Amino acid sequence: MNVELYEKLCGLMGKENVLQQEPMCAHTTFRTGGPAQLYLTPDMEQIQSALELCRQEKIPFVVIGNGSNLLVGDKGIDGAVIEIGKRMSQITIEGEVITAQAGALMSAVASRAAAASLTGLEFASGIPGSIGGAVVMNAGAYGGEMKDVLLSVTAADKEGRILTLSREELELSYRHSCIPEKGYYVLEARLGLRQGDKEAVYDRMRELKNMRVSKQPLEYPSAGSTFKRPEGHFAGKLIDDAGLRGYRVGGAQVSEKHCGFVINRENATSAQIRRLMEDVQAKVKEKFGVELEPEVKFIGKF
Ligand SMILES: Cc1cc2nc3c(=O)[nH]c(=O)nc-3n(C[C@H](O)[C@H](O)[C@H](O)COP(=O)(O)OP(=O)(O)OC[C@H]3O[C@@H](n4cnc5c(N)ncnc54)[C@H](O)[C@@H]3O)c2cc1C
Repeated sequence: MNVELYEKLCGLMGKENVLQQEPMCAHTTFRTGGPAQLYLTPDMEQIQSALELCRQEKIPFVVIGNGSNLLVGDKGIDGAVIEIGKRMSQITIEGEVITAQAGALMSAVASRAAAASLTGLEFASGIPGSIGGAVVMNAGAYGGEMKDVLLSVTAADKEGRILTLSREELELSYRHSCIPEKGYYVLEARLGLRQGDKEAVYDRMRELKNMRVSKQPLEYPSAGSTFKRPEGHFAGKLIDDAGLRGYRVGGAQVSEKHCGFVINRENATSAQIRRLMEDVQAKVKEKFGVELEPEVKFIGKF
């Protein structure tokens, strides 16, 4: 890589935040994925300049959060991965409004809400993503979704301008927002909750946690539900009914516990996970005529 550019990036955010040939298996919950040529972890003051520098130098880049909805190719990623994570994870509460930087984990924000006796974010406590990733995906569970609590988002656009987007402008629908199409990057989100009963909030969080532990294969690496819920069906049920419970490609497997999850059972590669997903799609289409659309995002070279 261009030494001058490397020096510039180090000058901007410190050497420890500019990694080269960083294995992406360390940054994805699937625990797979080859090296990113550059792996950058800016803070709130540095993010705009980091985006700007990548643009000026014509380095392709992708912004990620906690890597819990990603399948990264085994041959890695050309260009830069910009992580909006720990270094951008401040959470502040004023009355019934929580302002969270995009790198804050959903679980951390839900815990802070509970501690402040605020209700509305219990659904999010077991989703292992960042606030930024949750906005992008309109993440949801157990009858709640980001759309229900989001007030507005601060984002950067492709030119590095900072803008405020209202909930309506985010065009939120099932596991979708307009953020990727518009080329925005989420920097901060404001969530509107309600004053509630602290014990009731903790009870609901515990209840949802127990449901996840009993139903989901949390003991194996995965990216959660691999496919979106097709209209009028459940992906897991279709996969089960197609006879694919436990189906394996190398180290990748359709979870025996929950067919909606593809798991990294044993040293799987991303290519094996992708192959398995394609096999599942083909079989479900052949048997039931239903197209399964991946919820997981593919990045890098396979
Ligand atoms: C065990 C398990 C259980 C799960 N359960 C649920 C669940 O119940 N409900 C649910 O909805 N999801 C669930 N997921 C999936 C995942 O946690 C969510 O999709 C989450 O919102 C992804 O957030 P992330 O920070 O990990 O995003 P990443 O995986 O890092 O990225 C996801 C996408 O968002 C983009 N992105 C991330 N951050 C930003 C940003 N700041 N600005 C612009 N683009 C960005 C990335 O480029 C990528 O396209 C689960 C995953 C696992 C592993």
